Amino acid sequence: MAIVVQKYGGSSVADVEKLRRVAEKVVAARRGGDGVVVVVSAMGKTTDELLALAHSLDESPPRRELDMLLSTGERITMALLSMAIQKLGVDAISFTGSQSGIITNDRHYDARIIDVRPHRVEDELERGRVVIIAGYQGMSYKREITTLGRGGSDTTALAMAAALGAKHAEIYSDVDGIYSADPRKVPGARHLPEIGYEQMQQLARAGAKVLHAKAVEFAQSAGITIRARSTFEEGRETVVREGAQGAAVVAQPGIAQVTLPCGAADVSSRLSLCAELGLTPHALESEGDRMRFWVAASATPDWSKARDGLEKVGAEITMGLARVTLVSSGASDRATDFLAALADASIPTLRLDVGPMAVTALLREDCADEAVAALHVSLIGG
Ligand code: ASP
Ligand code: MG
Repeated sequence: MAIVVQKYGGSSVADVEKLRRVAEKVVAARRGGDGVVVVVSAMGKTTDELLALAHSLDESPPRRELDMLLSTGERITMALLSMAIQKLGVDAISFTGSQSGIITNDRHYDARIIDVRPHRVEDELERGRVVIIAGYQGMSYKREITTLGRGGSDTTALAMAAALGAKHAEIYSDVDGIYSADPRKVPGARHLPEIGYEQMQQLARAGAKVLHAKAVEFAQSAGITIRARSTFEEGRETVVREGAQGAAVVAQPGIAQVTLPCGAADVSSRLSLCAELGLTPHALESEGDRMRFWVAASATPDWSKARDGLEKVGAEITMGLARVTLVSSGASDRATDFLAALADASIPTLRLDVGPMAVTALLREDCADEAVAALHVSLIGG
């Protein structure tokens, strides 16, 4: 039996009516004869609301308890969707991440999947049932509940697709795929019919919220095609596969620059401090007696604690920055045009990183949207 993995994002399951329509789509796929595994996100803005609830108690909530709290969002969806499917006369069963065999490392809030043991999922598929899996969560080898980082339901879907030997994964959301820029902000943004794994990963790492970077990694290493589609509007899709080409511009606001006094011999102890504080620097420079790095402060759930920890060792922190990235093959050849586009729009560039597939500028956060628009017009067109 061929296996199809479908993943539905939060806006596709935001209320009971939408859950019913998703259930109809799932039932149609099952009646088509395939084994169907469905990975779901939390309903609507549930994860944001749970996070806000935690922050109303503690500015820097303990990450273990955050995982206990946030993992409940997807559990609500999985149970309700299973009920909706059974109501349509098709057998279904819901599983949490740990029940479906998603094993992670022991890092809370952005754990990494280290193994997938989908025996229960396989047993239920064999019985002909649709299996609904709560996305975004797993269990560490210490049997603790973990979450996979914001947007991590995509990663559940692709890790599961790889473990089950599915041919492709369908990622459903409120947009019909990937665009050359955020279509809500850049009116000339173009729909990309296809894009390569590497480029998609670069885009995700540069701040595009459409697909989780680790999900694309799983897809690439298992050779699984990703089909990003709109849940309720049939038509276009973006296919993510080896060798496809696509170019896009993306912004990530909420970046902090951290400068620390640090001799060459202290770099590794400073990096351990970052890890202890739960920070993952994007780029890092060590020069003379100081070290400088950049982190996504707004994506750090306990930033005020991390900030205190950094200031204790003499860090100088600049907030209010953004990264703006062009992803395209041969990006490094376009660095001059990239800088010229920003200069023509009178946007000061604080730092430039040039790589074979991406060029990234660091700039003031309040210039980010304008920078994306200017770069899109001059480097992609429209
Ligand atoms: N519900 C989680 C989030 O909002 C995971 C996901 O939707 O993929 O980040
Ligand atoms: Mg998502």
